[in-house]
Amino acid sequence: MTEPAVRLRGVTKRYGTTEVLAGVDLDLAATRTTAIVGESGSGKSTLLQLVNGLVRPDGGSVEVLGSRVDAVDLLALRRRIGYAVQGASLFPHLDLQANVTLLARLVGWSADRIRRRFDHLLELMELDPGLAGRYPHELSGGQQQRASLCRAMMLEPPLLLLDEPFSAVDPITRAGIHAHFERLAATEPVSVVLVTHDLREAVTLATELVIVRNGRVAQAGPSDVVVAAPAEEWIERLFRSQLG
Ligand code: ADP
Ligand code: MG
Repeated sequence: MTEPAVRLRGVTKRYGTTEVLAGVDLDLAATRTTAIVGESGSGKSTLLQLVNGLVRPDGGSVEVLGSRVDAVDLLALRRRIGYAVQGASLFPHLDLQANVTLLARLVGWSADRIRRRFDHLLELMELDPGLAGRYPHELSGGQQQRASLCRAMMLEPPLLLLDEPFSAVDPITRAGIHAHFERLAATEPVSVVLVTHDLREAVTLATELVIVRNGRVAQAGPSDVVVAAPAEEWIERLFRSQLG
């Protein structure tokens, strides 16, 4: 077993009197896709923000790609973490190409290397190169979402964090994006953490499943194992209502 991409030990976080994370222990496997599933408000986004250092834990330790987040240069770490959130959130005043390549230009990649990576990602996501000069409002929702994945993957990050990235698009477009995402995850040597409240999406895209409730990990393991043997009655009910 290789080193996990993410390791949380006894992680706690509170906002005011709300205990958002109540002692989370979690290993997320390298090069796999893990889905984190739970109701709204269960602490999923906070978990991801702890991983990329946007939020500090009150207690416990967060290790990402072999380093403790509190002992590492955060900017350097974030360059190794792709991050995409709900909705495409592309910069409206930049065209598709500028959106996708922005970070690579900031960190000083050569024009040639940027070009090659950009072309490769567009091909992988089946985005027509003719769209490169279009602004976000001139792209369809599905195209925006795919461009946003390209942007998150531009620097060849070993870790990709996705916070409900597909929940703003309609069901038909979402099915298409799922196929593109699977292609990306299969082609790139990347560990993916996908936060979603959609259990069906989780079992479609991820080989590992983490079920959270009230700031705790209720169950974690390979998706097929978890689905076959829910650890608690409410998880079984959740599966029956969403997957049945
Ligand atoms: P989820 O992504 O599962 O919906 P979040 O991690 O966003 O859950 O939020 C978990 C809880 O923490 C919620 O009760 C939310 O209101 C609270 N919370 C999240 N971020 C903040 C913040 N920056 N300040 C205060 N409360 C927050
Ligand atoms: Mg959230």
